[in-house]
Amino acid sequence: MDKNNLFRSIPKVDLLLEREEILSLIQDYGLSYVTDQVREVVEEIREEIKAYPESEGIDGFEDRILKKIERIEDLVMERVEEGLDLKLRPLLNGTGTILHTNLGRAPLSHKISTELATLLSSYSNLEYNLEEGKRGERYSHMKEMLCKITGAEDAMVVNNNASSVLLILSTLAKGGEVIVSRGELIEIGGKFRIPDVCAQSDAEMVEIGTTNKTHLSDYQEAITENTKAFLKVHTSNYRIMGFTESVEAKDLKALSLEHNIPIIEDLGSGVLLPLEKYGIRHEPMVQEAIESGVDVVCFSGDKLLGGPQAGIIIGKKKYIDAMKKNPLTRALRIDKFTVAALSMTLREYLHMEGIEERIPVLKMLSETAPSIKERAERLYDLFRKNHIQGECSIRPCESQVGGGSLPDTFMESYALCFHPRQISVSELEKRLHFTKEPLIGRVMEDDFWIDLRTIREEELERVVESFQEALE
Ligand SMILES: *Cc1c(COP(=O)(O)O)cnc(C)c1O
Repeated sequence: MDKNNLFRSIPKVDLLLEREEILSLIQDYGLSYVTDQVREVVEEIREEIKAYPESEGIDGFEDRILKKIERIEDLVMERVEEGLDLKLRPLLNGTGTILHTNLGRAPLSHKISTELATLLSSYSNLEYNLEEGKRGERYSHMKEMLCKITGAEDAMVVNNNASSVLLILSTLAKGGEVIVSRGELIEIGGKFRIPDVCAQSDAEMVEIGTTNKTHLSDYQEAITENTKAFLKVHTSNYRIMGFTESVEAKDLKALSLEHNIPIIEDLGSGVLLPLEKYGIRHEPMVQEAIESGVDVVCFSGDKLLGGPQAGIIIGKKKYIDAMKKNPLTRALRIDKFTVAALSMTLREYLHMEGIEERIPVLKMLSETAPSIKERAERLYDLFRKNHIQGECSIRPCESQVGGGSLPDTFMESYALCFHPRQISVSELEKRLHFTKEPLIGRVMEDDFWIDLRTIREEELERVVESFQEALE
């Protein structure tokens, strides 16, 4: 076989650059970017020829390479466009898990996204006080709202709730001891563990009680002259049942006052309204923590609050002031995207009535099974109408909150279950990851399940389009 002949049929880069299609690409994307892509395509064909084993027949291979060379302009065009595709893309969440950390947790509402876009494309008074005509503070945009909603004295916001815990401990407990119950020494995920954060903050952790039981006397006996804080951590991502006891912040308050030791509480999810009204077990609310006398409370912005990633810290002014002076604050500070999105989310909480319609996370959390079933039926009809090839059925399923929140809460829901005719379920799942708008679902009992809790009405058509593309 003669590979040299094949090598010789690859057009030279300079000649390719003079072809009409390539010239038009250069017009749109510039000479140097397009030249790079042309070089890469040429190099790839060269490598393919080089790698082909001489021992095998060349006929079919030769054909394939010559065909490739024939459509070399198309290959360049595809590469030019693919190279500029964003790697981060919107997708359809058919898992039913509302706060899926891998899928970006809380989606924002259309109203907020639109308003965000306007604000972000212009300058803003992020750190400018318009009334006084001088430098302002980025936290000022949220402080008043946070205080009004939660009843706290003061507030600030950092990058995420993991940062909150780090900042709080390194401001209030550095060089001293923090008392924490063994039942609350949790790992949040991504190797973020309460004992490690204490170590990182240069605070010595004093463990008290046992995994299942901690009494008030345990706190009392652990106090020394070096005690800087009591740390309470809401075990939001797991649950101990049975023979258990823990000390609530309100029962710790007397001890805290007597010894002048502040209580810190990491609430995790930041729930601002009673979840019972959605038929979900009561989750400790931020307002309750403040009311029971916790000095500093922190929680996430993108869990049950339904806003952007953020770590919200509220509580006594003297502690918040001290945190603002900590050099770490500069490293953990939020940008204008977060300030804007969080302010817009918090604004919705100023009037709670009908809030489920305005915060997507709450909408998904509060939707009833019959209402989800209706949407499943509409999707079913669309599958029929568009002749999607496969077996389709609507079945009850259970959705989860996710994001390490309410691990034992399962919400009744409905799914469209699909079994393809031509390909396997796992092949379908794989292909759905590569459609224009990828769809993530669950594979169970040899079917592909789309839980409609996390699919909105206006996304139904797009689910169908993804299926059409995957089954092509
Ligand atoms: C989720 C969680 C965190 C971490 O919050 P992020 O915003 O994800 O950094 C911290 N503490 C608790 C109790 C949590 O549940």
